[in-house]
Amino acid sequence: MLDDLLLLAWPAAHPEILARRRGAVIVERVRALALVFAALTVAWIPVDWAAFGSSHWQNLAAARLVAAIALLALAAVCRPGAATSAQVRVRLLGLYAIPVLFFAATLEIFLEVPRAGVAAGVAAAYSFVPFLLAAGISAFPLTALESFALAAIGFFAEAWALNARGRTLLPYNEIEGFWLLLLIAGVAAFAAMSQLRLLAALVLQAVRDPLTLCLRREAGKELLDAQFLLAVRNIAPLTVIFADIDHFKAVNDAFGHETGDRVLAEVSASLRGVLRGSDVLVRWGGEEFVIVLPQADRGEAVSLMERLRTRGFALLPDGRAVTLSMGVAEYRSDAVGNSADLVALADQRMYAAKQAGRDCYVDSSNEAARPILGASAPSSAAALVR
Ligand code: GH3
Ligand code: MG
Ligand code: MG
Repeated sequence: MLDDLLLLAWPAAHPEILARRRGAVIVERVRALALVFAALTVAWIPVDWAAFGSSHWQNLAAARLVAAIALLALAAVCRPGAATSAQVRVRLLGLYAIPVLFFAATLEIFLEVPRAGVAAGVAAAYSFVPFLLAAGISAFPLTALESFALAAIGFFAEAWALNARGRTLLPYNEIEGFWLLLLIAGVAAFAAMSQLRLLAALVLQAVRDPLTLCLRREAGKELLDAQFLLAVRNIAPLTVIFADIDHFKAVNDAFGHETGDRVLAEVSASLRGVLRGSDVLVRWGGEEFVIVLPQADRGEAVSLMERLRTRGFALLPDGRAVTLSMGVAEYRSDAVGNSADLVALADQRMYAAKQAGRDCYVDSSNEAARPILGASAPSSAAALVR
C-alpha cells in the first residue's frame, strides 16, 4: 500500500526498469503530440487570416512558424530508445514550454485585435491554452509530483493571461478561470496517475518471474546493457556473478518438483537478501541466476559470495544445505567489450567451478577454483547423486 502511494507520488521511488519503460512511453507521446501540434499550429494560419486580417495575422503566422519549428525540433530529439530520466523530463517540459512561450509572445497581439464577430471568437479560443496544458497532463503516465509541476505551468500561463485581463476580453473572470483550471488539472492528474498505476502493474508483471520474483532474462539483459554503458562512461567498476544451483535435477528427482520450486524461491530470496538496492538479480535460466553489481569490483563480489555462503542459500527437506557454483567477471580487469561477453565469461567460469567439484567459485581465467569461505562441506545435493 505504502509502495503504491510512493509509486504514484514520487518518481525517484520507481524501480529502474519501470523508470525506463515509462520514460520510453512519455518520450514517444511527446514526439507524437509535438508532431500533431506542429501541424495544427501551421494549419491554423488561414483561420487567423480570415479572423484578424491586417498585419495581425502576419505577426501571428511568424510566431506560429517559430513554434512549429520548435515543435519539430522537439519531435526530432524524441528518438525511440533509452533516455535518462533527466532527458525525459526536459522533453516533457519542452512540450509545455513551447505553447506557453507562444501564448506569451502572442498575447499582446490579441490585446490589439478588434474584438467583434469572428475575431472575438478566435481570440477567445487562444485564451484556452492554459486549459489545454492542464488537460494535456492526462496524456502521460505521471506521478502526483510531476502532474503538479505541469499544472503549475498551466496556472502560470493563466495568471499571465488574467494579468492582462484589464485590457482584454477573456470569456471568464479570475475566480472562474482558476476554479476551472484547478478542476481540469485535478481530473487530468487523476487520469495520469491511473495510467502510471496500470503501466507499473503491466511492466512489473511482465519483467518479474513469479516464482523467484527475480527479473526475467530479457529485462535483466536490458538493465545489464544500461549498467554496462554507464560503467564505461563513468569509468566505474561493474561485476557480474553467474550462479548455478548444484545438482538441482537430483533435488527434483529426490523430493519432487514442488520442493524444487520452493528451493528455487528460497535461493533467490537469499541472494536478494544480501544485495544493495542498485544491484540487479536476474533469473537467467531454470536454476541459473545472474547478479549484476554496479560500482563493485571483483573483491566486493567475492566478499558478497562469502556473506551469502555464511547465511546459507536454502535447506533441503532432509536439513542439508543447498550449494551453488559461481563464476565472476569484472568488465575492466577482464577487458570485456560488451555486456553479453561479460555474462558469457562469468558463465564460462561458473562452468569451470562445476568442473572443479562444485560449491566453489572461479573469478579469474588463470586461477583455480576457490571454495567459497575456504573449505566447505560436501553439499547434500552432491550426496544425493553419489
Ligand atoms: P549441475 O550441478 O551440473 O548444475 O547439475 P544440475 O542438475 O543442477 O543441472 P542441470 O542443468 O542438468 O539441471 C537443471 C535442472 O533444473 C533441470 C530442471 O528440471 C530443473 N529446473 C529448471 N527450472 C526449474 C523450475 O522452475 N522448477 C523446478 N522444480 N526445477 C527446475
Ligand atoms: Mg545446476
Ligand atoms: Mg544449469
